[in-house]
Amino acid sequence: MAAPPNDVFKLGFVGAGNLAESITRGVIKSAVLPATSIRTTHRRAERRSLFASFGCRILETNAQVVEDSDVVIISVKPQIVKQVLTELKPFFTKDKLIVSIAAGIKMKDIKECAGKSRIIRVMPNTPSAVGQAASVFCMGETATKKDEERVAKLFGAVGKVWTAEEKYFDAITGLSGSGPAYIYLAIEALADGGVAAGLTRDLALGLASQTVLGAAAMVNQTGKHPGQLKDAVTSPAGTTIAGIRELEKGAFRASLINAVVAATDRCRELS
Ligand code: NAD
Repeated sequence: MAAPPNDVFKLGFVGAGNLAESITRGVIKSAVLPATSIRTTHRRAERRSLFASFGCRILETNAQVVEDSDVVIISVKPQIVKQVLTELKPFFTKDKLIVSIAAGIKMKDIKECAGKSRIIRVMPNTPSAVGQAASVFCMGETATKKDEERVAKLFGAVGKVWTAEEKYFDAITGLSGSGPAYIYLAIEALADGGVAAGLTRDLALGLASQTVLGAAAMVNQTGKHPGQLKDAVTSPAGTTIAGIRELEKGAFRASLINAVVAATDRCRELS
């Protein structure tokens, strides 16, 4: 059994949606916090019941969630973040840490509505639902070492965590924020290739997704450069180099590079 957490604080979610659910599940599973330390609210009964079934406290209003929390994760959709923060401004006292995960909402915009509270901005991604998120955070000016440790632990419960300056957040959105979709496309296409070559759809899809997972684990766990790993599996005049030749003809690498840059540019336009 996991050891009891040694820094128990009150965590509130404003916006009990998908991301809030993933983080809550991860935080409870990895015993970063007991469920009773987590509180939220939602206008829909089924969302309230879900969070209650985890053991979380369900309150009536966002204001109560903020009042009763040390760390408040702002997890509503980006379009309504400013409106929600403005409504909650009177409750953002200096003892609170606001953690915004809203894509494209800048620290300076959060600061305008954050009263005296400290701020940390985080960019997670959807594999948080299976404990494999890539999250990056940046610290507001008044955020403390303890705030940093708490956010690292919270997001560490749903995957890997990095820190970066805010100026990199558009590029992070273009790479890890949008990246899962690029890889879904790649998995689907690999499976289509398997089907075209005569495999059943089920087998092809299983092999494609496990191959992507395995290749990512090789890069992560061996610490080897992906080019080195690629060289190690391409024998002279063999099958793999024949496949790679086709990928290069189709500008596979340039397409991925351009996808990240295009998504970054789009994020800049929107924020
Ligand atoms: P979601 O739509 O699942 O969750 C938002 C929730 O907020 C919904 O349940 C909605 O009913 C609720 N809500 C709406 N208005 C509210 C209000 N006034 N007060 C309280 N709750 C309200 O969205 P999500 O995918 O969980 O995304 C949440 C945030 O996380 C977004 O800002 C998004 O940019 C950010 N984010 C999401 C991902 C992702 O992978 N989904 C990745 C990075 C960042």
